[in-house]
Amino acid sequence: MTPKAILIICDGLGDRPIAELGNKTPLEAAPGNGLDKLVAKGACGVMNTIAVGIRPGSDTAHLSLLGYDPHIYYSGRGPIEAAGTGLQLRTGDVAFRGNLGTVDDIGNILDRRAGRIRNSEPFAQVMNGIEIDGVTFIARAGTAYRVALVMRGEGLSADISDVDPHVPGVPITPVRPLKDTPEAKHTASALNKFLAYVRPLLVNHPVNLERRAQNKPEANYLLLRGAGLYSELPPFSERYGLKAACVAGAGLYKGVAALMGMDIVESPGATGLADTDVRAKFETALKLVAGDYDFVFVHVKASDSLGEDGNFTAKTEFISKIKNAAEIFDPLPEGLLVALTADHCTPCANKAHSGDPVPVLFSGHGVTPDDVTEFGERSCRKGGYGRIPGLSLMDEILNLLGTAHLYGA
Ligand code: ZN
Repeated sequence: MTPKAILIICDGLGDRPIAELGNKTPLEAAPGNGLDKLVAKGACGVMNTIAVGIRPGSDTAHLSLLGYDPHIYYSGRGPIEAAGTGLQLRTGDVAFRGNLGTVDDIGNILDRRAGRIRNSEPFAQVMNGIEIDGVTFIARAGTAYRVALVMRGEGLSADISDVDPHVPGVPITPVRPLKDTPEAKHTASALNKFLAYVRPLLVNHPVNLERRAQNKPEANYLLLRGAGLYSELPPFSERYGLKAACVAGAGLYKGVAALMGMDIVESPGATGLADTDVRAKFETALKLVAGDYDFVFVHVKASDSLGEDGNFTAKTEFISKIKNAAEIFDPLPEGLLVALTADHCTPCANKAHSGDPVPVLFSGHGVTPDDVTEFGERSCRKGGYGRIPGLSLMDEILNLLGTAHLYGA
């Protein structure tokens, strides 16, 4: 077959040595040898996904790893989350991520997630399609209490304050323009009018009447944050000549892929949580490259979430699940390249992303093996790739696939 590639990004995979794990990292300590054959036939290295010493966000790191310099292409979290709900954005749209929250009668926040209400769809429906001052408001349900909102119209700006004060117990304040421009003032004004307009629609929503009767927190306010002015990304397929698909459970990663024009393919049991079916995701990716697709980006989320919880036992167990699932790549089909890495480290001790380099593995088509036999943060430092920048990852994939452009003559 034409050479094809699967890129697996395990979110927050990297860590630091932990005393309770015998001074190993969760990746080093996790049992399972399913990755070992890929490592034996492959070449490893470490990678700064954005640049040395930069603590990457998941959004900016994914742009970088897929070859889109975040300094040029990052326009905030809102547009990515909105794209992850399946919304087709247009250049000039201002997009937000949001939560349904609970506020009291005088506008103090009681609960930023409305009791973690499970379904935001009925609320998104009543907010969708409203027009105010030449702006159309498009609302889409995200998972659970999340809602994405897009403002579409002429002369909009993302230079406005968040609606969400980020902490409970404080009053909601009107949205303010953050720059003294007509665009920022117009956007803030239209958004404030929208929030006032939808307030009674939410308060009197039948689902809220039911919740009030059951004494549950009501979803009576839309808390928005992360405004971003969307501009179109160059399509992945044109940039690399690869027909691409994404297999992910969590919305942000589907959003990154959707903005690049990749097809989003659902995999059975993909939840974005620790109970996700990693093996099924890998199987889905193998089926896609056996068919029409040249490139599949697979995202696995829970290694990051468990690191942010500081739960090194659960992180180690989850990584063991990834290692075992990787058995499915043995034997690797002829012509297939597999790359496996992380978007950043999430050391359990920090409960946050760090700027440490992540381990990276290339195995299969085009790869000359090195001497690394175990996939870990320290073992990969001795690998044939040394230390590479994240923005070079796609270039190296093209090089190994044999489709990189000749630079010069
Ligand atoms: Zn991440």
